[in-house]
Amino acid sequence: MNVLDQLQRPLRDLRISVTDRCNFRCHYCMPPEVFGPDYEFLKKNMLLSFEEITRLTTLFQKRSGIKKVRITGGEPLMRRDLPILIAQLSSIEGIEDIAMTTNGSLLPKYADQLKEAGLDRVTISLDTLDDERFKKINGRNVSVDTVLKGIEAAKSAGLGIKMNMVVQKGINDQDIIPMAEYFKDQGHILRFIEYMDVGNSNGWKMDDVFSKQEIINRVNEVIPIEPVEPNYEGEVATRYRYKGSEGEIGIISSVTDAFCSSCNRARLSAEGKLYTCLFSSKGHDLRGPLRNGKNDEEMMQLIRDIWTKRSDRYSEERTSQTKRDSKVEMSHIGG
Ligand code: SAM
Ligand code: SF4
Ligand code: SF4
Repeated sequence: MNVLDQLQRPLRDLRISVTDRCNFRCHYCMPPEVFGPDYEFLKKNMLLSFEEITRLTTLFQKRSGIKKVRITGGEPLMRRDLPILIAQLSSIEGIEDIAMTTNGSLLPKYADQLKEAGLDRVTISLDTLDDERFKKINGRNVSVDTVLKGIEAAKSAGLGIKMNMVVQKGINDQDIIPMAEYFKDQGHILRFIEYMDVGNSNGWKMDDVFSKQEIINRVNEVIPIEPVEPNYEGEVATRYRYKGSEGEIGIISSVTDAFCSSCNRARLSAEGKLYTCLFSSKGHDLRGPLRNGKNDEEMMQLIRDIWTKRSDRYSEERTSQTKRDSKVEMSHIGG
C-alpha cells in the first residue's frame, strides 16, 4: 500500500500546519524585524478549510496508510475553532495518533476541549526556565510562567506531554542542566533540538549551533545518561535514559548528525502546499487541484507522484558551502 520515494523511504508521517501566524516572535523562527506589523500573513481564503484538511488527510491515510498526524504552525492554537478540526481528524479511520506542537501559551484555554476532541499528545516548546532570557527569546515578553501553566493544563486534561528546547550556543546553552533537572522531576521527556538553518530570516551560522555531542557531554557530566534503542524506525530524536531511572531525554541533531536516510515525513502548509523536506524552496500545490474538483483517485495519484519523485536529503548534503537561498520559513510549515 505504501509508496516509496527515490531513496526507498515510505511516507509515514503527515505534519499539518494550520496557520502561519504566531503570538510569539522567537528570534530563530520569526524574528520580529522580519515578521513586523507590515508582514503579510496568509488571508483566510488562502488557508485550507477544516473540510479540505480532513479530506486530504483521509486521502493520505488511504494512499499510504499513515497512522499519525501532527498539527503545527505558526502557533496552531491561533487558528480559530481548532478543536473542531481535531474532532474531524480523529474520526478518520486508520488515524490512531494525533499530536500537536505548540508554544503552550494558549493551552490553559484549550487543553480540555482538545483532549475531548481526540487530541492524544502535545509537544510544548520552551527554551529556558530563566524569565529574562525567555522574554528575549520569544520576542513578545511572555513569561516562563505562562508556558508552565500551559503544561499544567495539558497534564490535567490528560494529554501526553513532551518538551522541545532549541539550544543556541551562547544564548541558552547554560539552561540545558536546569531544564533537564526540572523536566526529569516532572516526568516529561525533554528533547534538545540543534539550532537549524531553516528559512532565510534567522541569520543562522554554524558557530551558533550547540551540537548533539556537546549536549550529551553537558548532561552526562551532571546527570549520567545511557543510550536507548529507538522506539520505531525513522524516530528523529536519539534517545538517552538517565542511569538508574526511567526518565529520558531526546536529541534532534539535524545539523551535526543528519537522519535523512530514514526521513518519512510529509509537510502540508496552511495554504495547502505539500513539502517533502523542511528545507525545500518550493511546495507542491494541492489546494488548486482540490478546489478545481479533482476526485479522490486523481488526488491520490497526485500525492503518489509527488512522493515517488522525492529525493531530498538536505541535512546530509549541508556543508558550509551549501547555501540554499530561498527556503520555506519554519513558521510556514512547522517543525
Ligand atoms: N509554535 C509552535 C511551537 O513553537 O512549538 C509550533 C511551530 S514551531 C515552528 C515547531 C518547533 O520548531 C518548535 O519546537 C520550535 O522551537 C522549533 N524551531 C523553530 N525554529 C527552529 C530553528 N531555527 N531550529 C530548530 N528548531 C526550530
Ligand atoms: Fe512561534 Fe513556534 Fe516559531 Fe516561536 S517557534 S515564533 S512559538 S511558531
Ligand atoms: Fe528529512 Fe529534509 Fe530534514 Fe533530511 S533535511 S531529515 S530529508 S526534512
